[in-house]
Amino acid sequence: MRSKLKHFLYSGLEWGHINDIARHRRKKALLIITYHSVLPPSEKFRNFDYRNCVTTDSFAAQLRYLKKKYRVISLKEAEERLQNHDLHGYECVITFDDGFLNNRRYAMPILQSLGLSAVFYVTSAFIGTEEMLWTEKVNAILMNAQTEGVTVQLDEPVYYSLQNTKKREEASVHLRTWLKYQPVREQERVVRALIEATGYTPRLVDSDPERYAFMTWDDVRVMRDAGMEIGSHTAHHYLLNMLTEKESYYELKESRETIEKELDQACTFFSYPNGAVGNFLPVHFKQLAELGYTNAVTQVPGVNKPEDNIYALNRVNISAGMDMSVFKAYCSGAYKLLT
Ligand SMILES: [Zn+2]
Repeated sequence: MRSKLKHFLYSGLEWGHINDIARHRRKKALLIITYHSVLPPSEKFRNFDYRNCVTTDSFAAQLRYLKKKYRVISLKEAEERLQNHDLHGYECVITFDDGFLNNRRYAMPILQSLGLSAVFYVTSAFIGTEEMLWTEKVNAILMNAQTEGVTVQLDEPVYYSLQNTKKREEASVHLRTWLKYQPVREQERVVRALIEATGYTPRLVDSDPERYAFMTWDDVRVMRDAGMEIGSHTAHHYLLNMLTEKESYYELKESRETIEKELDQACTFFSYPNGAVGNFLPVHFKQLAELGYTNAVTQVPGVNKPEDNIYALNRVNISAGMDMSVFKAYCSGAYKLLT
C-alpha cells in the first residue's frame, strides 16, 4: 500500500510537469548520480543487502531517460566546466562506487550500448582479491552462521538473536550501524570476535559473489580501454573521519599510486567511503589537493554549482525499488516536495 501511494504521489509530479519545472530550475547545476551495483532482476532484490543495487532493466531505462533529458558528460569535462563557470545546462555525470565486478559485467555493456561513459571509483586494495568489505563480512557472518544467537561486546555486551532471517537482518543492520562510527581497530576486533563466537569465517563464495566480488585489475583495464574514467575510493574503504591524519593520508596516497601504476595513467578523482556529512573533513580537502586529486565526490544529496567546494561535490544516490517516477523526481530534485 505504502509503495502504491508513493508511486501515485511521484507520478503526480510527472503529470503536473513538476519534474520538468524542477529540472529546468536546476539546469545550471551539475547533477552527479551514484550507483553501486547493477545485477539481473532476481528475488534477491527484496533483501536489505540489495538496497543499493539496480536491476539491469531499471539501469537501462534510467540511462535512456538521462540520455534524453540531460547531457551525460565525462567527469573531466564536468570539472573543467565547473572551474570555468561554463555549465551549458543539464550536465550530468554517472558514477559507481566500490569497484564491484558486476559493474564491468552488467553496467558497462549497457552504458556502451547507449554510447555513454561513467566514472568507476575503485577500492584499490580489494581489486583482484577475494576480500570483502568489513560491512559485508559482518553481514555474511550474521546471515550464515549456524547458531541461534551471538553475544558481542560493544559499549556493553549485546545479544543478537539469529533465530530467523528477519532477526539476522535486524542484527546485521544494528551492528553495522554501530560499527560504522567506531575506529578501524574496533571494527576489526568485532569481526574477529564474531568469527570466534560463531565459528563461521565469511567467504565470498558463501556470500554472494555476483553482488560482492571485486573486479581484477584486468577488468579495470578493460573499463579504461572502453573509455570509462577510473577514480579512487581509498585503499581499504575505511571512513576517513575514523582515521588519524597520517592514516587518511596513507589511504589517499596508496590508492592513487596503485591505480596509476596498474592503469598507467593519472588518477585525480576521489570518492569518500560512505560520504555522508561528517565522513569527510577540511583536513581531507587539503590532503587530496596536496596529493594531486582535482575533485572529490560525497554522498550528500544535491547538485553542484561552480562556486561550490570541488572537494565535496554532491551526488544523488540511486537505490533499488526506485521506479521511473521516483528516479526522475530524485534527478530533478522534485522529490523534496514529497519528503
Ligand atoms: Zn563505498
